[in-house]
Amino acid sequence: MGTAWTLLVTQLLIYAAGWRACESLVSRFQETSRDLSRSAFCFALAIALSRIEETQALQLTPSLLIEFAKTLGFLYVSSACTAFFSRPALASPAQRWLLAALLSLPAQLPDPGGHLHSLISSGINACIALITLQRIYPAILDEFGHQHRSMILLVLVLFAGLLFAESMQGFSWVAHPQPTDSPVIWPMLFMVLNGILYLGTAVMVGIRLVRETHEQAIHDPLTGILNRRGLHLVFEQFQAAHVRQKKPFSFLLADIDHFKEINDRHGHAAGDQILIEVADALGAEIRAADAIARLGGEEFLILLGDTDLPYAFALAERLRENIALHTFQYQGKRIHVTLSIGVSQSKQLPEAFSATLERADQAMYAAKRAGRNRCFAAGTP
Ligand code: GH3
Ligand code: MG
Ligand code: MG
Repeated sequence: MGTAWTLLVTQLLIYAAGWRACESLVSRFQETSRDLSRSAFCFALAIALSRIEETQALQLTPSLLIEFAKTLGFLYVSSACTAFFSRPALASPAQRWLLAALLSLPAQLPDPGGHLHSLISSGINACIALITLQRIYPAILDEFGHQHRSMILLVLVLFAGLLFAESMQGFSWVAHPQPTDSPVIWPMLFMVLNGILYLGTAVMVGIRLVRETHEQAIHDPLTGILNRRGLHLVFEQFQAAHVRQKKPFSFLLADIDHFKEINDRHGHAAGDQILIEVADALGAEIRAADAIARLGGEEFLILLGDTDLPYAFALAERLRENIALHTFQYQGKRIHVTLSIGVSQSKQLPEAFSATLERADQAMYAAKRAGRNRCFAAGTP
């Protein structure tokens, strides 16, 4: 009995440490983290109860409760997974309890051979795992890349193996088969499979965080469009395509007229709202392959791939007119917004980003000097 209790405590401690590590990895994803803790609690309860059942310590057989805790634990793991990938959960919180209660009923069936219960329980858990997987698999591929499909599948199969093996073993290291049959294999297998689960979680969270950080680093937090850093990355791609295909690209540099006055008259929040709306309106007019960035303040740069100066100028005119005709409103007050736009085209030989921008900038200032709310092309009077 002493050994059995030592094993129970060791097993619970190892589970607790593993799940705690997993949970802290996903702590930023609150719903996932919460459901993982709940599942850990359910599994710990199932382990403790099955050990009590084996040692007959309390002279009772809480098999119904063990099944209930196990199934509820699986349902929580399932909802942690669906939450992590923003997919609908298998069941609502109330349905989860009901389902766990219903699914644990077969544990009351007579089981003369001693295998029926664990088979039914594994079958139920396998079904939960499969349905969950079917929901999240497309999201996993979308986020972590179809090129890693076989690696992802391997981890998922190993994970399913872990669930299945643990379920078959009734979450116990030494119960059926007897300790003398395989004293080391099961604990080792569980440790390895758990390790894969934790590692897989760490890798997924790591990839997601790196990607999020990168996205934040290249986007403007106010308008959501690219910032200067993002613009440089996109420009390099434009330049490379330009060199490869010998096709010109163009810059539109748009600056809001008298923006300081708008801020002064209507407040900074109104100014922010206008920046967001102007960014949306400009972004809506360009092609998917083009790019729009906020250079800073109230200046926007649009990169047009495979576009020459006449086409770029026509687009600039359309954008200018759209904004001038658009009714901007803030707290019931109408605000008139206009743009001055400078247009420049890439030279035949690749030039630095700053050189193409400089020509657009000069054209934009020419438009300002000429009275604002107009477009000027670089190299034209
Ligand atoms: P011009 O027609 O010559 O372009 O005049 P302007 O007033 O638009 O240009 P100026 O450069 O004098 O002023 C730009 C203003 O933009 C000043 C600054 O307070 C404001 N601004 C810069 N960034 C933001 C921002 O993020 N939010 C808001 N609300 N205002 C900003
Ligand atoms: Mg301005
Ligand atoms: Mg400006």
